[in-house]
Amino acid sequence: MSRACCLAACAVFLAARVALAQPSSTGAVAPPRSPRNANYVIDARLDPATRTITASEIITWRNITSRTVDDLRFHLYWNAWRDTRSTWLREATLAHVRYDRRPDEWSRVDVGRLILRQDQDDPGTDLTARATLISPDDGNVEDGTVMRVPLPRAVGPGGGATIEITWTAHIPRTFARTGALGNFFFIAQWFPKLGVLQNDGWNCHQFHSGTEFFADYGVYDVKLTVPHSWPVGATGVERERRDNADRTTTHRYYQEDVHDFSWTTSPDYLDLTERFEHPRLPPVEMRLLLQPEHASQARRHFDATRETLTHYGEWFGAYPYGHITIVDPAYQSDVDGMEYPTLFTAGTRWLVAPRSLTPESVTMHEAGHQWWYGMVGSNEFEDAWMDEGVNTFSTARVEGVSFSPSYLALRYFGGFVPYAFHDIAVSRELDRNRMGLYRAAPKSDLPASPSYGYFPSRVARNAISYAKTALWLNTLERHLGWETLQRIMASYFSRWQFNHPRPSDFFETASAVSGRDLGWFFDQVYRSSNVFDYGVEDLQSTKEGGSYRTSAVIRRYGEAMFPVGVRVTFADGERVDQQWDGRDRWKVYTYDRPSRAVSAQVDPDGVLLLDIDSTNNSRTLAPRGPRAATKWSLKWMVWLQDLLLNWAALA
Ligand SMILES: [Zn+2]
Repeated sequence: MSRACCLAACAVFLAARVALAQPSSTGAVAPPRSPRNANYVIDARLDPATRTITASEIITWRNITSRTVDDLRFHLYWNAWRDTRSTWLREATLAHVRYDRRPDEWSRVDVGRLILRQDQDDPGTDLTARATLISPDDGNVEDGTVMRVPLPRAVGPGGGATIEITWTAHIPRTFARTGALGNFFFIAQWFPKLGVLQNDGWNCHQFHSGTEFFADYGVYDVKLTVPHSWPVGATGVERERRDNADRTTTHRYYQEDVHDFSWTTSPDYLDLTERFEHPRLPPVEMRLLLQPEHASQARRHFDATRETLTHYGEWFGAYPYGHITIVDPAYQSDVDGMEYPTLFTAGTRWLVAPRSLTPESVTMHEAGHQWWYGMVGSNEFEDAWMDEGVNTFSTARVEGVSFSPSYLALRYFGGFVPYAFHDIAVSRELDRNRMGLYRAAPKSDLPASPSYGYFPSRVARNAISYAKTALWLNTLERHLGWETLQRIMASYFSRWQFNHPRPSDFFETASAVSGRDLGWFFDQVYRSSNVFDYGVEDLQSTKEGGSYRTSAVIRRYGEAMFPVGVRVTFADGERVDQQWDGRDRWKVYTYDRPSRAVSAQVDPDGVLLLDIDSTNNSRTLAPRGPRAATKWSLKWMVWLQDLLLNWAALA
């Protein structure tokens, strides 16, 4: 290489370094990454004394589908908590979750005025009186979480509208991680928000107790007026701050290429910052709004966020926004971990055990949602597994790499005091992929059915959306190898970021990238509730002449099928591994060997993490009964000795 060439290369390298070293401090993303077809300019004022928000918004919307529509549909999420007759509260009741609230602890959103402009010269039409509340999912006339506004003129492909809305909202005592406690405010899903127009019509579901959200990407430019000197955290970057004569301050936050906007304020927050840097990823300013009693845990929050930015960035794709805000909710506020674009809530307690997973686990999960929810904007109403399950799998993998070993920690004295059991390490498969949760309700719902219709209990919902998905992805990792699965997820991310993928888009990417038709797998884990259960039904080894004849009967107890390994171990140490396609109901393996068989195992490497019963996966001919007796006798003796010592001490 010539010197000039070398200098040019150095210049390019340095320019790249400089570009990499300049995080977006303005909320701008250049060039645009999303269609930006739903843009919001909002001006909101918080009155903490009456717990109300008075606000106005201008939505600039563009129809990017091939469909012509004659109406607009908006989410009014906070109407879910007007009274107990909403669909959200009725579903919560079905799951035996009840809310005893004082009259002023409920919420509502009252639309004051709605003006529509359909082109530049349009002076505007007041459609306030024509707006109606509809219930497209269940016909519950008392719901009120979806508003329909008929259009004076239909909007065709490429057309658009500008909508001005004024509204007043009463802030609830927290429901679904949204609300207020004392002077702590966490404000999410708080503005009248357009549904998503798709080629088959509006996708604008009612608010259900078990679902989250779905919206188009755009630019958010939001002014928030709050009491003077109260720190504010919000989606995006603070571009301006102005103190007002009435002892309030107006903060203006701005962010491009996001599909939601949430914010928080409280006079109590500690406001801390750190910077994420990585040789191959863009830098990120990390801001932590921490409760003062958790000051000693700042490092743990930053480290968990840093590990997520590192590994998700390396495995799936870079985080492009240049900043991220971590919010630590107030104690007993019921604002638990939740994801919003460029901002998320974590959650911890005053006392935490070292090398346990509080606060790391929730911090990493919610930070990880910036990828699976934030940038890959799948439909959380219909396909909850695409954000929760894919993210549970991803976070578990980062935790395994970055925070192992971690130990099981239980909380005592009303949850106040944690104790970490340093002989019980947290397992990626059992704990982080939530295997126990899946086994508790493996058939509770069909994954392919819309997830807003899953049975509303937390166990049932989480078993499918979170645990089953994490387990089938981890099974796929073991079946294909991490290198292949990582390539699948990176190309899925790259193809579908700032877009709205459907389940088939993930499945098609998986088959294309792996070069194998994986339809048989997705048919079973996604389009069916069937369970996997392989077992060793019988193992015999008898002497025949000079050798032993061994037969192992392997059985498929579940309806679902997966290729499994079969391993038989002999007394002389020989180990024979074979592969079974796992399709028939049973298969017998026979061996003539000089030695007697000791044990038989199906799926000895634990590839099939979806197997709902591992206790039948092996069988041994070596009697183990005395071992169990010894173990339990010793445990009992220790307990008895402890009792006698206590008795002696008190006597
Ligand atoms: Zn989640």
